[in-house]
Amino acid sequence: MTEIRLEHIFKRYDNGFEAVKDLSLCLPAGSFTVLLGPSGCGKTTTLRMIAGLETVSSGNLYFDNERMNDAPPKDRDIGMVFQNYALYPHLTVFENIAFPLRLRKIAKKELEERVQSAAATVELGHLLDRKPKQLSGGQRQRVALARAIVRKPRVFLFDEPLSNLDAQLRQQMRAEITRLQRLVGATAVYVTHDQSEAMTMADNIVILHEGKLQQVGTPQEIYANPTNRFVAGFVGSPAINFFKGEVRENSGTITFHEYGASAGITIPSSLFTAQKLPTGKCTLAIRPEHLFFTEMRNSAGSMAEMLSFSATVQREEFLGHERLVYVQTAPNLPTIVIRLAVGGNVTETGMQIGSEVNLFVLPHHCCFFDESGKRIVIGESRGEFLTE
Ligand code: ATP
Repeated sequence: MTEIRLEHIFKRYDNGFEAVKDLSLCLPAGSFTVLLGPSGCGKTTTLRMIAGLETVSSGNLYFDNERMNDAPPKDRDIGMVFQNYALYPHLTVFENIAFPLRLRKIAKKELEERVQSAAATVELGHLLDRKPKQLSGGQRQRVALARAIVRKPRVFLFDEPLSNLDAQLRQQMRAEITRLQRLVGATAVYVTHDQSEAMTMADNIVILHEGKLQQVGTPQEIYANPTNRFVAGFVGSPAINFFKGEVRENSGTITFHEYGASAGITIPSSLFTAQKLPTGKCTLAIRPEHLFFTEMRNSAGSMAEMLSFSATVQREEFLGHERLVYVQTAPNLPTIVIRLAVGGNVTETGMQIGSEVNLFVLPHHCCFFDESGKRIVIGESRGEFLTE
């Protein structure tokens, strides 16, 4: 198994455009890392530098302790799977899978055994005589996967391999790819702009924006503890709610004032002291599932210290397993979404459109970001609370 290390990597294209800026990462041997970010953030460029298909402008790329900057692609021992499958239309499934082995002049008997085994792994053993045009999209992608695993490479690289598939097949192939990666044991790097793909597949997610690293962490860490406003907004569906405003302090009472809202939100002083939460402009962010319509009791039975504010119900969406309620704290302010799990904290009857509601949130579920978008670290409390 191979550790991949990037040290202060930059990519400047010939036209002077800097697509990757000072990227340093360590991808543990055998891990599955997803490069996630919006279109143009530098994901594919990073992957192609690892593959040797793009030169590294400056910085160092290592596979284990071997510097790979100048190694040609064929010497990197990589299996790559692309969005468009890149199959040879005139070759059968067998020959497509066998292609990398023929390049390496593997003996006939071994070649046949390895192709059969790779095909069986992706359940294509019965289709070896077909041409790509006689296959479904999912089957074509399986051929591309078999071709990548047949060489038993030390590194797997995936560039949006599921984008051409329908939603159901995509979900099935996600599980297939992670199963194959664990089976082969190769270190995997997977590019996508789909955050749900990243959340479901990754051991670690690397978030890029405008060529710069934003955060690295497990899906849980990234979701629960975004280091900046960009990450908070990019990960999660429906997206996290943002409230632009400022923190004020008046005679020891700390409040958050959303710009355009009539009333401030009192911040419980026991958890957020003035020292920890600086006064001034900031953005408050709260995930849709962390907003409640009722106060909570803590484990001792007393009412939990919560932030509370009022809002007007705009509309509601019923999605079977959950209900999304959209509210506004004042006209012209962005809509806030609240997620209610059906069977959990859901109100059996729908909310009345136009009604005034009080919303509650636990302090440790509030993320504050400064004007530059950086997370302001406050209250570490993780008190245990029970719903009434
Ligand atoms: P997508 O999800 O759309 O594929 P990406 O995050 O993979 O996006 P890259 O393909 O890595 O993005 O491109 C990063 C930036 O580099 C983009 O702004 C792109 O326009 C630019 N770029 C890519 N290739 C070249 C090139 N050969 N010359 C100049 N600029 C390039």
